[in-house]
Amino acid sequence: MATAGKVIQCKAAVAWEPNKPLVIEEIEVAPPQADEVRIKIVATAVCHTDLYHLFEGMPKDGFPAVLGHEAAGIVESVGPEVTEFQPGDKVIPLFLAQCKECRFCKSPKTNQCELAWTRIRQGAMVGKESRFTCKGKKVLQFAGTSTFSEYIVIHQIAVAKIDPAAPLDKVCLIGCGICTGYGAAVNTAKVEPGSTCAVFGLGAVGLAAVMGCKAAGAKRIIAVDLNPDKAEKAKVLGATDFVNPKDHNKPIHEVLAGMTNGGVDYSVECVGNVEVMRSALESCLPAWGVSVIVGWTEMFDIKIRPPHLISGRTWKGSMFGGFKGKDGVSEMVKAYLDKKLQLEEFITHNMTLDQINDAIELMKQGKCVRVVMSVSPE
Ligand code: NAD
Ligand code: ZN
Repeated sequence: MATAGKVIQCKAAVAWEPNKPLVIEEIEVAPPQADEVRIKIVATAVCHTDLYHLFEGMPKDGFPAVLGHEAAGIVESVGPEVTEFQPGDKVIPLFLAQCKECRFCKSPKTNQCELAWTRIRQGAMVGKESRFTCKGKKVLQFAGTSTFSEYIVIHQIAVAKIDPAAPLDKVCLIGCGICTGYGAAVNTAKVEPGSTCAVFGLGAVGLAAVMGCKAAGAKRIIAVDLNPDKAEKAKVLGATDFVNPKDHNKPIHEVLAGMTNGGVDYSVECVGNVEVMRSALESCLPAWGVSVIVGWTEMFDIKIRPPHLISGRTWKGSMFGGFKGKDGVSEMVKAYLDKKLQLEEFITHNMTLDQINDAIELMKQGKCVRVVMSVSPE
């Protein structure tokens, strides 16, 4: 490629400060160094975690940054010592790396990667500096990925190679929301055939959890959201019931207990609200219910009275649906190409990167599931 080894000037949506619209800027993307890959981002979607950083968490040391972590693209060039990738490969960048060599990667008990831990929530790459600059300032790479940019540089342990037949404007969703929700049901909760489930929050993550419960053979899937517009999509993806907490004047866990003879077998929280996390746990059958926390917040503690757990419930958390980054992404892309996984249902809008603030606004107002933005032509 003509650009290999050179700094690339390209467009990116920069979050200069919290709580402000993103600004489309010309940025410089440095060439990849040892073990790094430079990727041309073709398609990216907006996930609530991007909104969390911008409007909720707003960490003081988290700006300026390029947000975005749910994307697919094509390798433009690779740095020294990169053997797994070549220019032209179709790839999905990972916010959860998989080095395959550390004790976490070698264990079936976790999908965390110890090597990647240094970068989690720091907004920079594995132990290294960001490769972005804009107007002479260093710009952070949110989640190590920063996919609201035409080009990114990322460590090779955080890149998954995918089938060249995969349509990037669809499989980009596998980079976060789909794996996260689907895997929370299948891998973390380990939903069993014939069971009863409840999913709280019906964004792409929660809807993917509904899809996961259905794939695991759940006989009843109760979808819970404050936004009645989410009911229809939930039913398309497998929900048997929709409950809006606003329609009831008693706590939601009592409503669900009444509907299910004492509580559900599995519940999944996909909102990021500690009160909802508690309700999701309390909605489980006290004897053996399993509740999985997926929604993200670092701002508040979760609370529960000990007997709620002592009776036999289990409370778990799940990052990226328990999938190991590289393995999970290739598995899920294959499932999509084999027509065993739906993605189209999740895409309610298509836009371009220039319209990023409109996409964010749609998500804030609960008017979309996923907005897929085309970033660079394939
Ligand atoms: P989204 O904004 O598209 O959807 C959230 C849904 O929750 C909306 O439909 C909203 O109406 C609903 N909701 C809000 N308050 C509610 C309440 N009190 N009760 C019931 N429903 C309520 O978000 P998303 O992109 O689907 O992400 C969902 C959550 O998952 C976010 O917290 C996000 O940060 C988190 N997340 C976690 C991981 C992980 O690896 N654990 C990965 C991706 C996203
Ligand atoms: Zn996400």
